[in-house]
Amino acid sequence: MQQSFNFHSKSIEEVIENLKTSPNGLAFDEAEQRLKLYGKNIIEEGKKKSIFSLFVEQFKNVMVLVLIAAAIISIFLGEAADAAIIIAVLIINAVFGVAQELKAEKAIEALKKLNMPYAKVYRNGHLMQIKTDELVVGDIVEIEAGDIVPADLRLVESYNLKIDESALTGESIPVEKDANAILDQSSPIAERTNMAFMGTVVTYGRAKGVVVATGMKTEIGKIANFVNIQSNIETKTPLHEKLEEIGKYLTVGILAIAFIVFITGVLYKRDVFEMFLTAVSLAVAAIPEGLPAIVTIVLAIGVQKMARRNAIIRRLSSIETLGRVEVICTDKTGTLTQNKMNVVKIYCNDNLSDNLDLEDTTTKILFRIMALCNDVKMELIDKQPKFIGDPTETALVKFAYEKGLNKNAIEKVMKRVYEIPFDSTRKMMTTVHEVKNDQNLVVFSKGAVDVIIDKCRFIMIKDEILPLDEKAINKILQANKEMSSNALRVLAFAYKEIDETQLQNKNTIEDNLIFVGLVGMIDPPRKEAYDAVKVCYDAGILPVMITGDHKDTALAIAKDLKIIDTNKAENLQVLTGTEIEKLDHETLKEKVKEVRVYARVSPEHKLRIVKAWKDHGKIVAMTGDGVNDAPALKAADIGVGMGITGTDVTKSVSDIILADDNFATIVAAVEEGRKIYDNIRKAIQFLLSSNIGEVVTLFLATLLNWTVLYPIHILWVNLVTDTFPALALGVEKAESDVMKRKPKKSSENIFAGGLGFSILYQGLLKGLITLLVFFIGSKFYDTKVAITMTFMTLSLIQLTHAYNVRSNINSLFKMGVFSNKYLNLAFIASFALQTVVLVVPQLREIFRLAVLSFTQWTIVILASISIIPIVEVVKYITRHFFVDEHKGN
Ligand code: ATP
Repeated sequence: MQQSFNFHSKSIEEVIENLKTSPNGLAFDEAEQRLKLYGKNIIEEGKKKSIFSLFVEQFKNVMVLVLIAAAIISIFLGEAADAAIIIAVLIINAVFGVAQELKAEKAIEALKKLNMPYAKVYRNGHLMQIKTDELVVGDIVEIEAGDIVPADLRLVESYNLKIDESALTGESIPVEKDANAILDQSSPIAERTNMAFMGTVVTYGRAKGVVVATGMKTEIGKIANFVNIQSNIETKTPLHEKLEEIGKYLTVGILAIAFIVFITGVLYKRDVFEMFLTAVSLAVAAIPEGLPAIVTIVLAIGVQKMARRNAIIRRLSSIETLGRVEVICTDKTGTLTQNKMNVVKIYCNDNLSDNLDLEDTTTKILFRIMALCNDVKMELIDKQPKFIGDPTETALVKFAYEKGLNKNAIEKVMKRVYEIPFDSTRKMMTTVHEVKNDQNLVVFSKGAVDVIIDKCRFIMIKDEILPLDEKAINKILQANKEMSSNALRVLAFAYKEIDETQLQNKNTIEDNLIFVGLVGMIDPPRKEAYDAVKVCYDAGILPVMITGDHKDTALAIAKDLKIIDTNKAENLQVLTGTEIEKLDHETLKEKVKEVRVYARVSPEHKLRIVKAWKDHGKIVAMTGDGVNDAPALKAADIGVGMGITGTDVTKSVSDIILADDNFATIVAAVEEGRKIYDNIRKAIQFLLSSNIGEVVTLFLATLLNWTVLYPIHILWVNLVTDTFPALALGVEKAESDVMKRKPKKSSENIFAGGLGFSILYQGLLKGLITLLVFFIGSKFYDTKVAITMTFMTLSLIQLTHAYNVRSNINSLFKMGVFSNKYLNLAFIASFALQTVVLVVPQLREIFRLAVLSFTQWTIVILASISIIPIVEVVKYITRHFFVDEHKGN
């Protein structure tokens, strides 16, 4: 295999020989060896930060640096033990920070793996799907409209192939490709029409190609500006930005308070250096610099949970938006229904029947179209047929096979010579076949009934070809209506004969067809969809069905699933693509409020529907699978791609991908989204109220000229009580009403719904209780004991308060006090770390603590627990007087 072999200037045979492969693809072991030898087909991203540099970054904080300087100074002042502890705490803090960042990074890596696309490749003569990164040079791959080209390919077969190469060349008009071209050696990349390049997008047609370069050796790898499914996963969300902004205000506020603490202490003639250390420690402890990392971890854990529920998140920021979704526009086929099609009715020869056998020419032609006019691959494995392809087409091929028509066998005598592929705007497809021992060619078409009837001028009935008059059309439409209202998906079939010269005029191939018949397929709703629709309505979310299928079919299924509002007129709730075309934006905007089912729509209509809803200020989710759905998905607040039937292109623009194509998964994702957002708010509430507690304690104490804590105490309390409970709150179970309340408004900020108030009053409360304990301690015991009691209370009260934060509405006792086992573990871990400095004599010495008596412990514990009944009272009042607010009304 030569690197400098100019594949575009060589014949297909030469290329195949040079790459030591065959049209049947590589053997499994050869592919495996090549993978080992040449490496994975991936574009390497920039170098990752080393753990050391992550560690160093933790110290890039002015206050931390000031504290280190202060600690070093205190060594010279003979306070070596204090200094050592301060530095130790800072190092442990940095280690925690690194651990958090690594965890967040790992989760994002896992996310990228989940998003790895697949390629269709021939190995050992079989067509199979493998992860794109496993492709090797010499592999034979198939590409079709909607695919992102998985590696650099020399095309070996191509059918109407068009590729958008803008990712590589900047040229936005799709380029026509031709496998049979042999080009000049010097032709530039943009003119290599017999090649397809990694990262470019197939917009039309299909092709087979042999992989000539993978990974960094591909053209796009060389210029390394690859935007594909894997690499555009961003890690910073608007929530992070908001938090950073809030963080800035908090930093300024806390620095101001720390400054006041310092000045006040000095004015009270307290030790200047001690006061300086106190102020800086307070700043280090209270500035919530760990918040963004905690949010990332909570989001990342949430993402993994969602993946387990089959929703693969591609952007962390979508999680917040997901929880706020107000309208879900969903495809019908495969999303609300099972996409397990089965032919159950046939209309042919003027007759609607449940079954049909090959009797006359008309039925024979109908079965041939079923078998040949599709892109299904059929293989016989142990004499059992295995089909790969679109479920609608598979149902037809399977039905024909059961009637004795083997697709592979007739393909040999009726070779496909031309095709006009299916696309959801045209709603039909056509193939042209040459017939052995016959001069003529046959054109086979299938598609939506209305579309095919428009193309037909004749009808075949019992071997006879008659004009397609109004009477015949009415009969067909009648049969169509009957099948559609029983929720069947109906396709129409037509054909004609042409000669070679007529094939040259591509525009007329689909004209003047002869109508042959209709086929009705059942596609039952998914069982989970019934519940999911109900959950949507309960949660204030509107489910809307958008389908390319016939109005009656769509309506029948929508009624069955209870998407239609039975209290309102049915005809107000259905709109077809043709009707949409007649409406201007304003009228459509008015209509969308009522419409629950859109039938016979094309992808452009989806875009208009999204825009109409967005103009109402609603948060809209939109599903899509086909290549033309990408604009609608992009326009929606949440673009939902289909994992199984979706094209690479739609997946690459979507915010979430449904691994199971299931509507219920969207609803599950919304629930997870709401829960995660709630939990992030809980983590924030916990962290900020803890910090405020610390600030209040020290601020008021300084004003009162009390020494309640030493600097290392503040650092320690902050270290041991911060991270664990916040993370445990981040994985709190969903509150029982999470899908009973209305979506939160998009204008609502993170502190809305009383969160800001809770943070403030709870922080204040913690500070006051802690000071009260100091007061009692100093009144009845000595200062050392009082400080020890304060130290223990400030820490323990944070931990008990974490239990309050599990819900701002529901009583802790109703939720089950210990039902969040992670919080219980966090409590134990934090409490153990807190008490270790009291129990180990040497540490106790360094921390300048006293041994507490039973009574003193009792006071500490009672004071720390007292925050629970107080908050319970506030929750009770909120539940009874402010519930509506909570529900987001
Ligand atoms: P949904 O939009 O709910 O996924 P859909 O699969 O019906 O539904 P499209 O794939 O856009 O949407 O198909 C539109 C119409 O085109 C279908 O209703 C059907 O009449 C016709 N059709 C679907 N698949 C094919 C096909 N493979 N060949 C020919 N016609 C097809």
